[in-house]
Amino acid sequence: MIIAIDGPAGSGKSSTAKAVARHLNITYLDTGAMYRVITLAALRRVIAPSDNEALAELVAGTSISFTGVPPDTRVWMNGEDVSEEIRGEAVTGKVSDYCAPAVVRRALVDEQRRMGGGCSLVCEGRDIGTTVFPGADLKIFMTASVAERAARRQKDFARMGIEKSIDELAAELADRDRKDSSRAVSPFSKADDAVDLDTTGMTLDEQVDWIVERARKVMK
Ligand code: C5P
Repeated sequence: MIIAIDGPAGSGKSSTAKAVARHLNITYLDTGAMYRVITLAALRRVIAPSDNEALAELVAGTSISFTGVPPDTRVWMNGEDVSEEIRGEAVTGKVSDYCAPAVVRRALVDEQRRMGGGCSLVCEGRDIGTTVFPGADLKIFMTASVAERAARRQKDFARMGIEKSIDELAAELADRDRKDSSRAVSPFSKADDAVDLDTTGMTLDEQVDWIVERARKVMK
């Protein structure tokens, strides 16, 4: 059973997908974390998003792995725990540029299919229902109002000790959505057979119940 959850930043995908995985006792795959790892690696080596050759080499030489059980999963880059660093401002501000080149997307999509192959999983990202697992059993397209998404991001950053205004965050989210939706290779878009879930005003438990209920119907 594969559950694909796509949606823009701050729509509640990660927390919801983790809780769904826990409820159904299936694997959780965070594809955004994988693009974040490549972005961190590129920033450290000062590789430009336009340098396809260097990016291809970088992707081939960077191992990405996950450990732990949701919600306590850790993300590793060549054996280094980068779970916190990939959520910071430097990576968040650049990830939409580094995830766009075909050399990056092709390699990571292959890796995602390999990681998800043969097991039941909840996979979240931007192109899961359209590209990574087009045959997924259940596809959810999660959205939320920009105001609510910015407010959620503000809380995430506050936990990291970073203060940002709602206006600044709303502008950053809009910029990331625009770049993600307009790239040439597997742009962020809703699969034709995805079900909409607008999480504006919903609690985490409500979002999780909504998906788990649908997943159980599909599994019957
Ligand atoms: O989900 P998260 O905000 O961690 O994703 C970070 C970024 O990674 C997104 O803004 C997008 O640029 C990229 N991404 C993507 N395709 C995915 C998952 C994430 O392009 N499947």
